Amino acid sequence: MTIRRLPETVVNRIAAGEVIERPASAVKELVENSVDAGATHIEVAVRDGGKSLIAVADDGCGMTADELALAVERHATSKLPSDDLLAIASLGFRGEALPSIGSVSRMAIMSRAESTDAAFQIQVEGGTVTGPAPAALSRGTRVEVRDLFYATPARLKFLRGNRAETDQIVDTLERLAMAFPTVAFLLTADGRVRLDARAAQGDLLDARLSRLSEVMGREFAENALVIAAEREGMRLTGYAGLPTLNRASARQQFLFVNGRPVRDKLLAGAVRGAYADFLARDRHPLLALYLEVPDRAVDVNVHPAKAEVRFRDPGLVRGMIVGALKHALAAAGHRASTSVSAAALGAARPESGPGLPLPQAQFRPSAYAYRPTTPPRGMAEAAAAFQAPYAPSATAPDEPPVPPSEQPLGTARAQLHATYVIAQTGDGIVIVDQHAAHERLVYERMKRDIADQGVLRQGLLLPEVVELGEGAAARLAERAPELAEMGLVLEAFGPGAVVVRETPAMLGEIDVQGLVRDLADELTTLGGGFALKERLETVCGTMACHGSVRAGRRLTVDEMNALLREMEATPHSGQCNHGRPTYVELKLADIERLFGRR
Ligand code: ADP
Ligand code: MG
Repeated sequence: MTIRRLPETVVNRIAAGEVIERPASAVKELVENSVDAGATHIEVAVRDGGKSLIAVADDGCGMTADELALAVERHATSKLPSDDLLAIASLGFRGEALPSIGSVSRMAIMSRAESTDAAFQIQVEGGTVTGPAPAALSRGTRVEVRDLFYATPARLKFLRGNRAETDQIVDTLERLAMAFPTVAFLLTADGRVRLDARAAQGDLLDARLSRLSEVMGREFAENALVIAAEREGMRLTGYAGLPTLNRASARQQFLFVNGRPVRDKLLAGAVRGAYADFLARDRHPLLALYLEVPDRAVDVNVHPAKAEVRFRDPGLVRGMIVGALKHALAAAGHRASTSVSAAALGAARPESGPGLPLPQAQFRPSAYAYRPTTPPRGMAEAAAAFQAPYAPSATAPDEPPVPPSEQPLGTARAQLHATYVIAQTGDGIVIVDQHAAHERLVYERMKRDIADQGVLRQGLLLPEVVELGEGAAARLAERAPELAEMGLVLEAFGPGAVVVRETPAMLGEIDVQGLVRDLADELTTLGGGFALKERLETVCGTMACHGSVRAGRRLTVDEMNALLREMEATPHSGQCNHGRPTYVELKLADIERLFGRR
């Protein structure tokens, strides 16, 4: 056996395999270098998914001829002044990207160092360096990478089609653009502009929001909640979309750690945890979170492409993200996304197309951030509101509506099809799906009550016997203590039946037979081995279905207004337990547009 040193070009190609997996990784490394060089304008042009050409030009500090020669050498970097791998302030630090790219492609770097009047160029072809030689360039650095992976045909075979590789490049650049809002980015692919983000102005938060709006879309910026949290030297800021603005994949969820875009499973898990109550399992919110942690709390040197990080205390980070998101969602109260009314308008307008402007945003996120919410009303009071169905109407239907600032959901005017409540607001109308809204209110109230004093119950005048069959009756009776905590008191009544003595007060008059049968069915399908509280959503949904405000029930004006007020006071009431909206708001301006008055 002979041990030999691998030639430099082979070592570089091995490194290239780790650092440069695909064209998008080359783009990432080159653009990160431009950011590290202090560039304020970065232009990227790619052809054929980056396979035939990647060109990155910046207006950063540039390099002298000597620096150019060093830059393409392995492990040559200007960025790790203290040799301390735990204190990494720049995006690059390994000194591997340029030699790696140069070893598998035909690369040319032109650069002009700041405050010098001569530019130089160096070329690397399959690892062989030529230059530096004088060149013409007015400022900054321009890197051109042609025929990526021509020197490693095996890797070339692993690449996907041009369109897929281009999409990856777009994604990479979008992440970097979100991380550095004050830098202008331009990306063209095969001559087509794919990203054109001008340098955002203002303080960091404003700059970020306008950059996010450019990259993730205006809809996101208009329907995002401000996130701000601090814990043990860590800081979390950013924006999280309302649950009603959701997608089929988690691709629009972004995390930045100390300014670096990262992909981390921790984010997906934390987001799922925080939104669990508001979204169906297969729907995902949009968000961009920026985490600032002390250098020593995170290791970015775990992955050659630096796309992953390792937190020293992942639990702490996860806890902070979940906590901050939940807090923001709770503070959002009944707010549903403007996309809901946009969708409504779209549906109502036969000629509508993608080019139509969205309706005016109802709230600016920053204005919404620390909006104090009305403290939740006492259980008894709320229950009373629902239980006074036949009280004489206190609000004459033609009374002027209360100013919108106090009652954003307006004054109830009518109920249609015994299902929808129509309310008038200061500047529009609100349509409430009474069943969806009530289901949500029941859920939120029950959650709260269980956490505090337990759910308020009301005794039935005559206990009701429900015949079920032996298995189902036994399963229900087994759960009797848990059900009692949720306000439903029942016990076995001979074989195959239960007797119900008390029901949750908040449900008002209730169809006991239907509710108990449905609950029994649910217990059968769900099986055992879990606490009912874990399935509170399901249980509440079932209860709400049989409560007084189900679809198809006529409501008095008082009941309708009680429902609206309760929605305003209840966190998360803008969507039902499955992320569907509980109400839609149409502004007068939008309605006028519908009728061509504007
Ligand atoms: P790293 O970024 O890890 O230091 P690279 O191989 O990506 O390693 O780059 C090597 C060095 O080349 C950098 O440390 C930097 O000094 C210099 N460099 C690379 N790109 C640029 C650029 N666009 N502008 C100025 N200097 C650059
Ligand atoms: Mg680099």
